Amino acid sequence: MDIRPNYINGRWQPALGGATREVVNPANGEVIALVTDSQAEDSRLAIAAAKEAFYGKGEWRRMSGPRRADMLLAVADRIKARTEELALIDMRDNGKPLREARADVEDAVACFRYYAGLITKPQGGVYEVGDGFGAMHSYAMHEPVGVCALVTPWNYPLLMATWKLAPALAAGNCVVFKPSELTPLSAVELFRIFDEVGLPAGTANLVLGTGPNAGHELALSHDVDMITFTGSTRTGQVIASAAVGNLKKVGLELGGKSPNVIFADADLEGAVEWAMIGVFFNQGEVCSAGSRILIEESLKDRFVARLAERANAMTLGDPAQDPDMGAIVSQAQLDKILGHIERAKAQGARLVCGGERYTAGECARGFFVRPTIFDQCTRDMNIVREEVFGPVVAVQTFRTEAEAVAMANDTPYGLAGGVFTSDGARALRVMKEIRAGVTWINCYNPTFNEAPWGGYKMSGYGRDLGVNGMLEYQQVKQVNINLNPGPVGWYRR
Ligand code: NAD
Repeated sequence: MDIRPNYINGRWQPALGGATREVVNPANGEVIALVTDSQAEDSRLAIAAAKEAFYGKGEWRRMSGPRRADMLLAVADRIKARTEELALIDMRDNGKPLREARADVEDAVACFRYYAGLITKPQGGVYEVGDGFGAMHSYAMHEPVGVCALVTPWNYPLLMATWKLAPALAAGNCVVFKPSELTPLSAVELFRIFDEVGLPAGTANLVLGTGPNAGHELALSHDVDMITFTGSTRTGQVIASAAVGNLKKVGLELGGKSPNVIFADADLEGAVEWAMIGVFFNQGEVCSAGSRILIEESLKDRFVARLAERANAMTLGDPAQDPDMGAIVSQAQLDKILGHIERAKAQGARLVCGGERYTAGECARGFFVRPTIFDQCTRDMNIVREEVFGPVVAVQTFRTEAEAVAMANDTPYGLAGGVFTSDGARALRVMKEIRAGVTWINCYNPTFNEAPWGGYKMSGYGRDLGVNGMLEYQQVKQVNINLNPGPVGWYRR
């Protein structure tokens, strides 16, 4: 079996230590690839390459905007041309159904195109200034931050890579990218595409390995100017504290325990369907998952019955056959989810449906969990407080709008939230009170390249996507020009 190597300074090379890791297809437990397993020394090589490319050669940051845009458009075209292949890679690596993997590739294409377009749009500003020093002209220009380290999780392998790589490169930075060790394969293909379109050597570097071994050095290194990370809140804390040494810029997109607030006047069928998309899409391995359903008491029984009926009808199986749900990413994640389920039962939550590993037929060798609903949940239960990152939802009830808002905000997280009601004013009131970075009204989970994405509170800081996503990878320089050269008479002698 080929060993997928690192890509450093424009060359494919194995980790210096020569170690390898197996990549497993979670739908059947088979080893599908071997990848090189990097250590801190490999990350240091990649950082040095990015540093030389940015501060030394400076080819990428000095390249004209339209030319850089052309290269990113070429990347988008090549991803598009390989849609089916890349979708199959993410499907096998992650376990998600093929149609969802295809949608991820399409989103990645659109994301590269969006940021390629943004390069050539006006940035910065011109200011009228002058008092005290005579006529002056002042403007702000956007510049790349420098060497950026990008670290991503396993739930959307190609798409999370793209959310970071597209704006970081568009802004003119040189980067070191480390994907999750569980799902590194589409990143290797993306870097083959970077190589084919001819990004200057050292502009984009790929390091494959685990967080503690390969990733941590990216947070520690004083040669890295910025680290952006998507992953768990715990790892975000570790990275933020490791990053203080050189006060590098830090962007964190972390976990969540997001409330989906449903009032009795909501369209029942619509709310049920969106709640399913909210918590069962991508096997529930979604940071913004609406994993706490807060529902008005009078609607609860009807809603839960209908949700359970729909959840029980969901198909699980070989992701290539496009079931409703695919496999959980790994044995460890499966065990974590089952642990949450057992704890919820022990703490008195009522199991409505699911609640177990699914092993029928072809699923026997893979890591599958039936969609799971817990009712009668209370605020002190772990299932209400902790992120599960699987197809498990906790239902709680409220009686008043004020109570709903208080329950929605009763969490250390603040990534997302939803509101379902046919009362427009109430929808806006509640949305405004929810302390979260992304909110949905009468829908749940749609995400757009054009709109900023990120959390409040312990779901992190910084934004992916949209104009804000590019600003993250830029710093702003103020330039002041004296329009009347010569003495201004400030010193009178
Ligand atoms: P994780 O925190 O375990 O790992 C994420 C990445 O960080 C991996 O590449 C890992 O190798 C790396 N890493 C781990 N320790 C590190 C260290 N000390 N230094 C540098 N890198 C390190 O998370 P995961 O299990 O891969 O992903 C699931 C988590 O990601 C969930 O909590 C989920 O909510 C979150 N997530 C958030 C968003 C968002 O946009 N907010 C999106 C997707 C996933």
